Amino acid sequence: MCQFCIQHGEGKKWYLQASNYAEDLLSDLRRREFVADFFRHPEHLGEDLATMERAGELPAFVRRAVSRLVTHRMKKQHFGQVVPLEDVEAIFEFVNSIVRVPCICRHMTLKREVGYCYAVSMGPNGGRMMELLRGLDDSFLNGPDISGFDQLTTAEALQAFAAHEKEGLCHSVWTFITPFIGGVCNCDRSDCLAMRANVVHGFQVMFRAEYVAEVSPDLCTGCRSCMRVCQFGALAYSAANKKAFIDQVACYGCGICRSVCAANAITLKPRAEVPAAARLW
Ligand code: SF4
Ligand code: SF4
Repeated sequence: MCQFCIQHGEGKKWYLQASNYAEDLLSDLRRREFVADFFRHPEHLGEDLATMERAGELPAFVRRAVSRLVTHRMKKQHFGQVVPLEDVEAIFEFVNSIVRVPCICRHMTLKREVGYCYAVSMGPNGGRMMELLRGLDDSFLNGPDISGFDQLTTAEALQAFAAHEKEGLCHSVWTFITPFIGGVCNCDRSDCLAMRANVVHGFQVMFRAEYVAEVSPDLCTGCRSCMRVCQFGALAYSAANKKAFIDQVACYGCGICRSVCAANAITLKPRAEVPAAARLW
């Protein structure tokens, strides 16, 4: 169990607790201001990333100190966790609305609107989160034109997530002043700023999943399809055995490799049951 499961989930998966999506949490003015500022000023995300890039030139001990400070701040404000498709499905079963919104990271990195993020809410029609976003001025992505906001049924949202998996995108939940969870995103290391921060620059802004993947050597045909989609460099190929294998220390447990394996050779195990990775978040 990650730190948030203990602090915000009573020892169970914190992102499966309906209380962490409660509409009441958006009565908090500080949280409302944080959400408004987050979407009104996407340029702050780019500035944060530039700071992390510059930190790469600092002496290691200074860099470690900066990294700890960034993680400490992000855990309080906007922190994520990788979640596999079955847990996304469990979230979609208890929330009351799912609205696809343009991804703010791709707005910065690709300079275009791509619907890879989903606002989830216990309220109808996107709840108070969408009320807040619809009320922002025209600096938010599509601005007051809300055509970029797309309300989906649970079945439609699951279909969209399955398609995102085939594109090799990894699902993650995100807080807006922890523990309130406002969205589920679909990330990759080239366009998603959070994954770049975490995987490329080594600044932790998200937890790994509560799972770790493993390959069954009996089922693996050695086709290597899985290796093309792992965002975390955790898959390798043994020329001697002609099979893929997973570095469980590097694995984030996203399950994306599983979705492209035609031989059904990849499964996810609870992280706690994998001694090499049980304490790695
Ligand atoms: S996709 Fe499946 S069968 Fe192909 S190498 Fe990976 S684990 Fe083996
Ligand atoms: S090996 Fe791990 S991190 Fe890589 S795609 Fe599979 S589950 Fe995700």
